[in-house]
Amino acid sequence: MSAVLEMTGVTRTYPGTPPIEALRGVDLRVASGELVSVVGPSGSGKSTLLHIMGTLDRPTSGRVQVGGFDIGTMSDRQLSALRAQRIGFVFQQFHLLDAETALDNVADGLLYTGRAAAERREMATATLERVGLAARLGQHASKLSGGERQRVALARAIVGRPDLVLADEPTGNLDSKSSESIVELLEELNADG
Ligand code: ADP
Ligand code: MG
Repeated sequence: MSAVLEMTGVTRTYPGTPPIEALRGVDLRVASGELVSVVGPSGSGKSTLLHIMGTLDRPTSGRVQVGGFDIGTMSDRQLSALRAQRIGFVFQQFHLLDAETALDNVADGLLYTGRAAAERREMATATLERVGLAARLGQHASKLSGGERQRVALARAIVGRPDLVLADEPTGNLDSKSSESIVELLEELNADG
């Protein structure tokens, strides 16, 4: 299997007195189609790791490749393009636009792909149907439950068919029943490719 993500000897030290070594030599390879959980207590470096995987931050040392591209050799602008085309993000706080509908929130995920508005809406509709929100397309994000919001955020992350989807504590703001259904959904979407 080809690797969607490959990290070799990755460290990340935050400056300070003393400096904080958030990552100390991470070697990790994630193959296409894999589903990986990173587990650890608060402060153990999970978000730092995800930010580096997602090219939102650069390592202090070591090598990171996403989709075969060595991010150390790329400009910030090239990394923005890489993120827009190949990586989907899901966050604990959802990060939806509350005043927009579920449909627009998801269609916005395709803004940088150059697709026409009608096609963006069509793809967003199909993806919202896939995550079980066919009946909520026109609902404003502010009117949705936490579990529904995270489904919208997941739909936004996958609507452009990225190579890599990164989720940072995606169930951290949900009750146990919604958490379970979001994890199940992640597993189903992964199994679907
Ligand atoms: P987790 O997501 O597992 O809770 P983090 O990656 O957020 O862990 O944090 C790992 C360590 O790095 C913690 O000690 C945290 O305080 C520190 N840290 C995280 N971000 C920064 C930052 N921007 N500046 C300085 N220290 C940071
Ligand atoms: Mg964190």
